[in-house]
Amino acid sequence: MKPIIGITCDFAAGDRPPFEGEEPTIYLRTRYVRAIETQGGVPLLLPILSDRPAIRKLIDRIDGLLITGSGPDIDPALYGEARRHSFRIMRPERAQFEMTLVRSAVRRGIPTLGICGGMQMLNVAFGGTLIQDIAGEVMHPIEHRQKGEGKELTHRIRIERQSLLFKILKRPAVQTNSFHHQAVRDIAPGYRISARSEDGVIEGIERPDLLFVLGVQWHPEYLYPYQEETRRLFKAFLKAAAWKR
Ligand code: MN
Repeated sequence: MKPIIGITCDFAAGDRPPFEGEEPTIYLRTRYVRAIETQGGVPLLLPILSDRPAIRKLIDRIDGLLITGSGPDIDPALYGEARRHSFRIMRPERAQFEMTLVRSAVRRGIPTLGICGGMQMLNVAFGGTLIQDIAGEVMHPIEHRQKGEGKELTHRIRIERQSLLFKILKRPAVQTNSFHHQAVRDIAPGYRISARSEDGVIEGIERPDLLFVLGVQWHPEYLYPYQEETRRLFKAFLKAAAWKR
């Protein structure tokens, strides 16, 4: 039986092209759906809800949770810091929904994969903090905001030998794409670092005590058609979700 994977969506409230002036819109880039579909799962797009019992009902119906990235940043107030930059901030409706969703899903042992901003959300939801801007806050950073296409591999990450990520990818290092200006700073209690780039920026986190709770800072949803390691990542996630059901 193919596992059902709930996927979080983007949200525009008339404040963002191409939805300028239109009613609030929930949407998702197709590549996230295709990644799950082609690797053997059934994607299910999750609406943004505020009612906690309703959110728990959603979780009842899914076997795995994919938290996607976001253009806007997580509000630093959610990890107890003041805003130091003027980047756009994620709408509170989405942030509150995702915090409740991810806490509840992980507490119930639902296999969870966080991608880019989704990994940052995972970390913040469990008490971690973020680097608000890599260029302004990291000494000698490499380029994490690549100009080229998503399928281009622009920097290397080193993977911790003892990690779930290493077990899945079977490599001490891989090349990844990179489209972020924030990163995990203090890792949430109960989580551990599974990968870093050459400048020390955290590129993967995971929960060692659970079957599959993993965050990656790069974008595997661009890479699965081209990279065997990336297909292994999605397959391991879907296998955990199928086993869990
Ligand atoms: Mn990066």
